[in-house]
Amino acid sequence: MASPAKKRKLNSDSKSSPASRNLDYFFGKQRQAVPSRLAKDAEQEVGGTVDSSTLTDEELARKLQAEWDQEAAGRSSADHESRNSGFGEGSNSTSVSAEVEKDPVEETALNGNVGEVNGSDRGSADVKPVLDSKSKNTLSLQATGSAEDTITSNIPFDESPLTFEPAKYIKDLQGHWAAEGGNASYALLTRCFVLVNSTQSRIKIVDTLVNLLRIIIEGDPNSLLPTVWLATNAISPPYISLELGLGGSAISKALKNVCGLDSKSLKALYDKVGDAGDVAFEAKKKQSFTLRKPKPLTIQGVYQSLVKIASTQGTGSGEIKQRIVDRLLQDARGPEESRYVVRTLCQHLRIGAVKTTMLIALSRAFLLSKPSGADFPVKTRTELAGLKKEALADVWSKAEEVVKACFAKRPNYNDLIPVLLEIGVCDELLVRCGLALHIPLRPMLGSITRDLSEMLTKLQGRDFSCEYKYDGQRAQVHCDSEGKVSIFSRHLELMTDKYPDLVAMIPKIRGDGVSSFIMEGEVVAVDQESGDLKTFQTLANRARKDVAIGSVRVNVCLFAFDLMYLNGEPLLDRPFRERRELLRSLFTEVPNQFTWVKSIDATSQDSETVLEFFKSATDVKCEGIMVKILDNLPNTKLTDEPDENPEIKESAPDPPARPSKGKKKANAKAKASEKEPEKKTRRKALLSTYEPDKRLDSWLKVKKDYSTTFDTLDLIPIAGWHGQGRKSKWWSPILLAVRNEETGSLEAVCKCISGFTDTFYKANKEFYEEGSEHVLGGKPSYVDYEGGHPDVWFEPQEVWEMAFADITLSPVYTAAIGLVSDERGLSLRFPRFLKKRDDKSIDEASTSEFLAGLWRKQEEKVPGAVKEVKDEAGVDEDVL
Ligand code: ATP
Repeated sequence: MASPAKKRKLNSDSKSSPASRNLDYFFGKQRQAVPSRLAKDAEQEVGGTVDSSTLTDEELARKLQAEWDQEAAGRSSADHESRNSGFGEGSNSTSVSAEVEKDPVEETALNGNVGEVNGSDRGSADVKPVLDSKSKNTLSLQATGSAEDTITSNIPFDESPLTFEPAKYIKDLQGHWAAEGGNASYALLTRCFVLVNSTQSRIKIVDTLVNLLRIIIEGDPNSLLPTVWLATNAISPPYISLELGLGGSAISKALKNVCGLDSKSLKALYDKVGDAGDVAFEAKKKQSFTLRKPKPLTIQGVYQSLVKIASTQGTGSGEIKQRIVDRLLQDARGPEESRYVVRTLCQHLRIGAVKTTMLIALSRAFLLSKPSGADFPVKTRTELAGLKKEALADVWSKAEEVVKACFAKRPNYNDLIPVLLEIGVCDELLVRCGLALHIPLRPMLGSITRDLSEMLTKLQGRDFSCEYKYDGQRAQVHCDSEGKVSIFSRHLELMTDKYPDLVAMIPKIRGDGVSSFIMEGEVVAVDQESGDLKTFQTLANRARKDVAIGSVRVNVCLFAFDLMYLNGEPLLDRPFRERRELLRSLFTEVPNQFTWVKSIDATSQDSETVLEFFKSATDVKCEGIMVKILDNLPNTKLTDEPDENPEIKESAPDPPARPSKGKKKANAKAKASEKEPEKKTRRKALLSTYEPDKRLDSWLKVKKDYSTTFDTLDLIPIAGWHGQGRKSKWWSPILLAVRNEETGSLEAVCKCISGFTDTFYKANKEFYEEGSEHVLGGKPSYVDYEGGHPDVWFEPQEVWEMAFADITLSPVYTAAIGLVSDERGLSLRFPRFLKKRDDKSIDEASTSEFLAGLWRKQEEKVPGAVKEVKDEAGVDEDVL
């Protein structure tokens, strides 16, 4: 993509561009006024590349203003009114007073190919806003740094939704939006991003989102869907492949093109702030005026631009994408809009408005607001404000449950939002927006247990099934009555093309009477002749895209473990025993290609049998076992309290009897606990239904690697130090972080030197080579770490599974700070690298909340057993 200087040059070649001029001359005055570095950059960039001309910068600017005024005259009266009231675009522009000449303005000056005027710093443009009455006679240049509209910036979005009144602002907002095309402005969204980013409080984050959504629902419902996509930093659900496909260079080019930065100053800025969005913020702050008239960004416009970027393919697509990116940055008003536009383009918004927060915010917003014309009931603020705390929590949580349940069965905002706008949050939503063929539901997940004893204790009194836990890839197979097959991954990506051999096999497994179904199983690499299981690594070697059936070298077998839908009917609410019966009786085995997971049924009394089964699983290279509740028996000991995160909230079970110590002990233990008076427990009754997107104790994982140790954590490597001695060529130790789901920041949790092979170290050093794109210039603003300076900061992008001895309180590491202690974070003792989790993105790394839950669990077991670590030296001693 041409730099602004080149573009001017191109334009200057055109016959019809009398306004083209020597930009050196053009920028001359500003440069004299403020000899800033940017001005020097601009000089470097543009010097001597364009024909000279006789127009002064003032004259050219007047011409532009004349054209803008002409356009403005043709605007709607609403527009006129709003500008009169000082809220129009003109009011956001700083001005340079001058008489307007009526000369026509060359198209070249307005077609987006005009270089930006750099020079005077924002602070120096100390001029008053222009009111409409004057604007016809006033020359306005867009002051990029100060263009945020005042209505938006004065809305108290972070107020409690119980006091916030959208109606108070909507009229003014709509007037303002009308001046800019009628749709909700991107400034509104940016304002909320800024507020969300400025707080650690989850309540404030949710409140801000709720209030934003309410304004949009009531003021511009058509912008709701794009708002939700942009706030969740996505443009489509995972199973629809719509990738932005922008390299980092597109953003750099745009920053150069739009803000007049040269490579050197861009690098210097990047090295200083470390995040592309923050670079855009700084660059825009320094950029004062632009001669191309910015078109205020709207939420819909930004979303459509992203979709356009993602859907543009083929020759010349790079240029087209670049132009859209440039345009977005040009039109962004002020540094904050630029920051969030760039973060959105980098797909790293860092506002912590993750899926769950958004679903909660949507459910609350639709309890209080509806679009004009909709007739579903909403609650009044006074109605809710009059409720007791528990009653209010109950109202919120019921609505949340409905919205979350819908999204778990049909995880696509394109389906959810239109129905919400029509009928609000009600039970019908579950019907209108339920399970459907060829749309993947979010999988049910298993809770991890330390060992078999813990599992047996947790499931006491229940019938359960123990299944081999195969080491392959989870697959959700959809087949409709026409025989069309879709296969989805654990993370809901479409992978039908990866497994043409499975697709071809499906007709063979469909027994008589099966028309449509959704089943789940583990795809495992196997020896075609013997059926012996192969490692996950073998499966990983299989090609991923557009695999031709004849080219398949790695044979796979699908080990089915669940059936969620059959012949047009969802089976999610049926007990597992029943679903499993249907799965086993209605489908046909195909040797070494399709079968059912190997399993035994047991109770906690059968510890010996379970132990033997566990051993047999690990003997054949399985990771361990999955244990699943079979029936929905009522369990009087357990309350039915909703429990989102049982791993964290559950009270610790009694120390379990080790299976190896024999049946007798386990039985004695079971008997003893029968006699004990009933303890009040917060555990949720275990269900045998299929609960999409939930990690409950009705599915437990018992893995061989960790059967004697603690849980593991999925951490993100964020920095490294030069190794010493033998390791001097590599990064060692490596700093790792957990993810703060609420703030989007990464919180350092430990340094690690253990578990790495030399080959690993070498590959790691090559990947995070200094100067490479995987390495940052400094500590990114979204990383929290108070310890000594690492030698290199990694671009966070990997997830590593880590084992550790225990969790300690730490004054150095900030992970989970505020969750277990206000002053101390958490760290790990003896962290050990286990493996890379290539199947996980950093958004799926362990959260600080999860870490805090593990710490609480540990403390409940042996309170105070792990001493607080006093300082970083102490941490290092322990950890390294
Ligand atoms: P999770 O998928 O629970 O978030 P994870 O990615 O760390 O966690 P694991 O701890 O390895 O995965 O365990 C869960 C995975 O085990 C399932 O997602 C599935 O792919 C696999 N699996 C293998 N055998 C079974 C089985 N019999 N039942 C359910 N899952 C199984």
